[in-house]
Amino acid sequence: MASIPQPSEAQFIAQLKYCKSLPTLPAVALQLIELAEDNCATLDEFAELISFDPALMGKLLRTANSSFYGQRRKVANLSEAIGLMGLNATISLSLSFSLRGLASGQGDGALDDTNYWSRSLLTALAARTIAMELRAPQPEDFLLAGLLQDIGVLAMASMLGSTYIALYKDSIDHAGLLDQEAQRYGFNHAQAGTQLLKYWRLPERIHESVWRSHAATRAEGGGTGIERLSACVAAAAYIADAWLQGASDDAFEAAYRLASVHLDIGPERYQNIIASMSDEMPDMESLFESELVDPGILQGIQDTARELLALRNLSLSKATAEADVQIQALEQRIAMLETQTRRDSLTGLYNRLYLQHRLELEFGRAIQERLPLCVAYIDVDRFKSINDTFGHAVGDQVLVAVAQRLLSASRQTDTVARYGGEEFVVLLPDTDLEAARAVLEQMLASVRDRPCLSREDADSHVSFSAGIAALVPGVSTFDNPAALLEAADSALYRTKSSGRGQITVHDPGG
Ligand code: GH3
Ligand code: MG
Ligand code: MG
Repeated sequence: MASIPQPSEAQFIAQLKYCKSLPTLPAVALQLIELAEDNCATLDEFAELISFDPALMGKLLRTANSSFYGQRRKVANLSEAIGLMGLNATISLSLSFSLRGLASGQGDGALDDTNYWSRSLLTALAARTIAMELRAPQPEDFLLAGLLQDIGVLAMASMLGSTYIALYKDSIDHAGLLDQEAQRYGFNHAQAGTQLLKYWRLPERIHESVWRSHAATRAEGGGTGIERLSACVAAAAYIADAWLQGASDDAFEAAYRLASVHLDIGPERYQNIIASMSDEMPDMESLFESELVDPGILQGIQDTARELLALRNLSLSKATAEADVQIQALEQRIAMLETQTRRDSLTGLYNRLYLQHRLELEFGRAIQERLPLCVAYIDVDRFKSINDTFGHAVGDQVLVAVAQRLLSASRQTDTVARYGGEEFVVLLPDTDLEAARAVLEQMLASVRDRPCLSREDADSHVSFSAGIAALVPGVSTFDNPAALLEAADSALYRTKSSGRGQITVHDPGG
């Protein structure tokens, strides 16, 4: 069999660009895209542009008053509708409505006989409904992306005519279609659609999601932005297929398995999505002037959804109680992990990591609010001899006792941390040098004046040496938090060399 010459992607792009019969957007939609690119455009400009197209304006008003927005009060004019839905949603919806006419009259009209348009609308509704269920921002972006997911099919039908339409009609499923297109033409409708949307200058998040939703890789539904948009659109297409296949339980179950590849939604939420879709279907059909699903089927689904809801309400209180227990356990675990990352395991004081974070915070605040901040660096004197005398384990007990006393002598706003070994750091926000020195004197007295251990066979008195540095905005400044801590450390060093058991203040001049 002779092989069919395949165009390269570059050839294809050129072909697409010069294809005269390519679907084009109505003028108002094109102007809307242009206006949306202009950051200075006002709401009034959008309203004025939309009002050039009375049919579009009517649809936007009906959408604002439809089950999509569930308003009790009627929205009476375009500005109110834009205000309710938001500008971005208005633009996405306007583009969605303007796509309605594209499917008919393309190629030799044969695409009309296929379920192309129904599938696009159902994908759009499913994508929007998933977004609502996930509480994703901008659900109308999902509607638009869903509607455009297969716009490449239109592009290929216009470029390639009846041979392509025959291939489209004969394809068993969507994955098969993509394969067939690639084999036959060297590119598929995901590429064609993405290119077309780039020509239309649609925002990147829309054409990117059309492209990615066709990729076989798993997109994390929990992600954000384009990732989530793509995952929802990919999942939505399976749900659309289930509706088109008669909306049977089997079809919905199969769609659930396929959708789960892209989205992490449990069966309950999936049921919610199907039920919401059936509620919104009549509005969707009237807004887009299409019958999507047999009314009998819709009624059946709505009835089942109501029965399920009644059953669910019965089991809800039990499920809620179980969920509460789980949440409590989780919260405890989070609290424990938080403690582990902030606290020193021996003394229970803050650890060095947290101290550094806190110091940065306080440093910034002191500068911003022009308040003094003192830092004290403390080192237990001749601690090695405690270890040598009592052993390392008892040395640990002494460190715990010292930590306790530092903490008791500190004030609520101070941060006392174990910096490492027998070294501690205290942050004293909103404190001038004199007050800081008083706090440190009290700490020193409480450590020095009593033995650290209850045993009487040996002396367990310890003392410490300390250095204080003060940041006083406008008077004594430091380039950064580390410099302030270093200054306290060098003051401590001076204490050590002048006899220990004292407090030295950093001298900015010396
Ligand atoms: P100086 O007055 O000059 O500070 O003398 P020092 O003995 O306190 O200082 P040095 O730095 O020589 O010794 C500190 C000692 O602290 C040595 C080390 O084994 C001990 N140390 C560090 N971390 C711990 C700990 O977690 N537990 C115990 N028990 N000892 C520790
Ligand atoms: Mg030391
Ligand atoms: Mg020491």
